[in-house]
Amino acid sequence: MKVTFWGTRGSIPSPGQETIRYGGNTTCLEVELNDGTLIIIDAGTGIKKLGQHIVSNSRVGKINIFFTHSHWDHIQGFPLFAPAYLEEYDIEIFGCEPVFHNVQEILTNQMDARYFPVRFSNLKAKINFHEIRQEKLVLGDAVIDCIKNNHPGGANGFKITENGKTLVFITDNELHAPENSGSSWQEFVDFCRGADMLIHDSHYRADELENVTGWGHSSFEQAFELAIAARAKELLFFHHDPDRTDDEIDEIVKGFRKTIKKMGLDMKLDAAIEGTKYRIG
Ligand SMILES: [Zn+2]
Ligand SMILES: [Zn+2]
Repeated sequence: MKVTFWGTRGSIPSPGQETIRYGGNTTCLEVELNDGTLIIIDAGTGIKKLGQHIVSNSRVGKINIFFTHSHWDHIQGFPLFAPAYLEEYDIEIFGCEPVFHNVQEILTNQMDARYFPVRFSNLKAKINFHEIRQEKLVLGDAVIDCIKNNHPGGANGFKITENGKTLVFITDNELHAPENSGSSWQEFVDFCRGADMLIHDSHYRADELENVTGWGHSSFEQAFELAIAARAKELLFFHHDPDRTDDEIDEIVKGFRKTIKKMGLDMKLDAAIEGTKYRIG
């Protein structure tokens, strides 16, 4: 499968000179399975460019969108997703219960006349909603699993396994949350075990955590600790703080790479960059 980052930023779009390299758009990932099946995870502002890319490449047919949850930075781009305006597209929207329960209503409401000029009911694509109730979902040759994150209001992480290769995407997750409404540390380790690529929320630095417990995000250190415990082959930091500059992220990545070397580990590490594409397997 191939993974492309269209939005890597957390909380709010953050364009500017200091964020230009890692990107300012909020969460949106494109995953292309080996048989060409298109999966999009989240509709943050990054989905706008992805939509234009899909339409300009005349890529027609089914588009599968998975939502981790419905916070602004994960849904805000949907009203500007070009394929939603064209009748030749089928858009299948997925999410795990109970977080997903109101997504149709939420996507409709964010296109209310008070917020946006076009109604959801005026979109021309065929749009269907699917709530994942069982633990696994089969799509093409891939199996998709959900895990419950620790996040205010709830959120889900996804694992996509195709031909023995696994991609784990967990954002908006506080690994050591004061109240475990989602999953335990051990459940996260088990879910991520042996992942070929683990993309995890790294919104904060360890020294910033003190005043933000319960806000639903993790630190670089905690994501790193998870990747080591799960023996992931590659870790990508994700959901960059809107105030985190490119230079700061560079320094953080450099520091963790040194630690990997010192520990004698064989793990790749990077921070997700908007516009980059990875092949897994
Ligand atoms: Zn977020
Ligand atoms: Zn969130």
